Amino acid sequence: MPEGDTVFHTAAALRDALVGKTLTRCDVRVPRFAAVDLTGERVDEVLSRGKHLFIRVGAASIHSHLKMDGSWQIGRVRAAAHKIRIVLAADGVTASGVDLGVLEILERAHDLDAVAHLGPDLLGPDWAADVAASNLMAQPDRPVAEALLDQRVMAGVGNVYANELCFVFGRLPTLPVGQLTDPLRVVARAQQMLWANRFRSNRTTTGDTRRGRELWVYGRAGLPCRRCGTLIATDHGGERVTYWCPACQR
Ligand SMILES: [Zn+2]
Repeated sequence: MPEGDTVFHTAAALRDALVGKTLTRCDVRVPRFAAVDLTGERVDEVLSRGKHLFIRVGAASIHSHLKMDGSWQIGRVRAAAHKIRIVLAADGVTASGVDLGVLEILERAHDLDAVAHLGPDLLGPDWAADVAASNLMAQPDRPVAEALLDQRVMAGVGNVYANELCFVFGRLPTLPVGQLTDPLRVVARAQQMLWANRFRSNRTTTGDTRRGRELWVYGRAGLPCRRCGTLIATDHGGERVTYWCPACQR
């Protein structure tokens, strides 16, 4: 599942592939922007802000969001052709946006308006733990997992990290966020987790990168807790699936 770390390393890959080059192909397959052709324009920079990506080309900015299943793929595409939303090529390199949740072509001068609502970016130059912590506590009755997922609190946490953070702090995902004793430590840990994974494709929160050992609770329903052996519980009832250890988390 794409979270802030995925978007960060996707931006790095796109930067390596495209920046400084002139587009020789620009094929936008979204009806509203199908007429846009940036061929002949130079790719100036690639930015990530939380889970949003911007590819700045001349006076335009290609804004995308990976949502649940999206990806940018360099070179050969590993997806059905009808899932491709945009193809950019320059200097022999092709980058394809597949299954993107959002794809729009903005005016570069105003592109960041699209992310003005976001809280501090966990992997960005604007990261401010104190601001994120105070945002987190702004609505004390909200469940912890829901507050962690709110991109207006801080930008970059997705459902994997939300569940893993709850486990690491021994808190149930449903606990009212106001009951956290040290919100500053929680947001600092979130930043450390994403930062450690910013160039990795095999995300780990346990520190173990071996297959099947990377995560504490996420995706592990019915398997024994790595700390106490109790079977990991899950709830698919809400907007997002949650996972927790009934013994370790209160
Ligand atoms: Zn446990």
